[in-house]
Amino acid sequence: MSRDRFTPQETQNQHPATDWNLALLQTLDVGLVVIDDCYRIQFWNGFMENHSGRAPAEVAGRDLFETFPELPQSWLQRKLNAVLLLKTPSYINWEQRPSLFRFKSHRPITGHSAFMYQNVHLIPLPSVCGPAEHVGMLIYDVTDVAVSRRKLEEANGKLEALSRRDALTGLHNRGYWQECLEAEFNRFLRNRRKSSLIMVDIDHFKQINDRLGHPAGDEVISQLARLLHQHARKTDIVGRYGGEEYGVILLDTSARQAEIFAERLRRAAELMLVNYQGTEISFTISLGIAEVETDQQGAAAWLAQADKALYQAKAEGRNRYRVYIE
Ligand code: GH3
Ligand code: MG
Ligand code: MG
Repeated sequence: MSRDRFTPQETQNQHPATDWNLALLQTLDVGLVVIDDCYRIQFWNGFMENHSGRAPAEVAGRDLFETFPELPQSWLQRKLNAVLLLKTPSYINWEQRPSLFRFKSHRPITGHSAFMYQNVHLIPLPSVCGPAEHVGMLIYDVTDVAVSRRKLEEANGKLEALSRRDALTGLHNRGYWQECLEAEFNRFLRNRRKSSLIMVDIDHFKQINDRLGHPAGDEVISQLARLLHQHARKTDIVGRYGGEEYGVILLDTSARQAEIFAERLRRAAELMLVNYQGTEISFTISLGIAEVETDQQGAAAWLAQADKALYQAKAEGRNRYRVYIE
């Protein structure tokens, strides 16, 4: 098959049906390109002209990769060669490669994308015998679909982050924190690296609410959350477990090391003054520590031990930490 048979000039005036076909192909809202087995452009429709700014006469017979140096040459050549040799079509999805031809996006609703996302179909064009000698490239503008999908993914990501966060403090919420606790317990079963859990509860918090009102109590809850966040390492997992109760998972930390952390925290809370509308509020916290152990029946048992230690700290007078001992 000679490449000249594809040049638009010569296909004109052959037969009305050919003219009609050509006219339809020219106006189609899909990019149509035909290249020969030396990657020379043999056909270039109106869509390609409009988006590239290159007229058919300008690109006819020219090497595709020289004309469009932005194309991923070796990658695309491998694909084209496979189509030519195996005579089987190939598909390039926008998720795999967002755009092959670097065209600008002209769609009004896609203000979010500067370029055109494309799906590309490569089809072998039949020859009488032997390997195909030409490849048809169909370039579909899928910018609308891609942009909506990206927006949806973004929104889902934000929603997921929100569903994990406690609204008042910005810490992990109870559900997500418990998931982390489970994950940490399972990690320990695999690699036996010790972690410790600290449960923290504000002492006589009801009195703060009763004396100064619920919003003042809220301010104390969020200021303490900030303090916990500041004292924790990046790998520690801090969550709001309930009203004025928090959980901290200290990764790769023994109970002995957790005691140092707990005491530092207890002291910092004791010294802290929360300013709420001109009133300075002081408060203390109690803490319960439990180290992860193989004989614990799951993360819930680990949590129950830290809770028992916390209860003991409360019972012994508050403003202190206790370590769970069997
Ligand atoms: P203890 O020293 O034994 O812990 O005494 P406490 O007063 O802190 O006792 P308790 O844990 O029973 O009380 C917690 C109170 O926290 C009860 C509830 O009204 C209040 N609370 C729960 N959630 C919130 C919240 O989001 N904001 C505020 N301001 N208060 C809350
Ligand atoms: Mg309390
Ligand atoms: Mg409580």
